[in-house]
Amino acid sequence: MNILISNDDGYQAPGIVALYEALKDLGHVEVVAPEQNNSAKSNALTLHSPLYVHQAANGFRYINGTPADCVHIALTGLLGYKPDLVVSGINNGANMGDDTIYSGTVGAAMEGYLFGVPAMAFSQVEKGWAHLDSAAACARELVQTFMQGGLSHPSPWLLNVNVPNRAKAELKPLRITRLGRRHAAERVITQLSPRGETMYWIGSAGPAKDDSDGTDFHATFQGHVSVTPLQVDLTEHAALDAWAQALHGTNE
Ligand code: MN
Repeated sequence: MNILISNDDGYQAPGIVALYEALKDLGHVEVVAPEQNNSAKSNALTLHSPLYVHQAANGFRYINGTPADCVHIALTGLLGYKPDLVVSGINNGANMGDDTIYSGTVGAAMEGYLFGVPAMAFSQVEKGWAHLDSAAACARELVQTFMQGGLSHPSPWLLNVNVPNRAKAELKPLRITRLGRRHAAERVITQLSPRGETMYWIGSAGPAKDDSDGTDFHATFQGHVSVTPLQVDLTEHAALDAWAQALHGTNE
């Protein structure tokens, strides 16, 4: 069993260290992660500047690029083999609903998925690393389930897992969920720089808009571990006929 670990908070983040410690005896486990915090970098690849791979004293390799860069480089030459699983995280904060579009944690896992490797992304619901050990234990359990053949869904697949910040004994069983939705983000924040220029800071993500029963928001609010299977096809399949009628109707 070969496992590739990455994240978006950077190779020194407590979440990736906890994830590695939780998985390291389950097989051959390697870490290739961004040098800096790359949260909200989604699936971005670095095409116009060179990337360098360095190795930290603990064996983790780190790259001056994005989460997707790290997994891409690992899978296209650095590792020299195809891992059986890509695991990303554990992220400092939730990746639910519309967050998944922006998430570098999901982006790293998605890069594995796009290369045909089963992948999981793990996030803690609240920032600050409280009860990180129980999120790591959840990750270990899910990887063990995979190893025992319990996730033998036709490959490839991509699971987005969000774990409430609770002690392990207080966590409710995992729930298979769909993504909720968020309201639009908060207003941009402006400040004046020391040189008199206006600086813009992207505001916080909006609050949950659809957190109804069955969503990731609902499950985690109730204390459950949320597991959402993701796909990459952005096509609005239900609208294909309507668009064909609307556009062919006027163009023909
Ligand atoms: Mn992050």
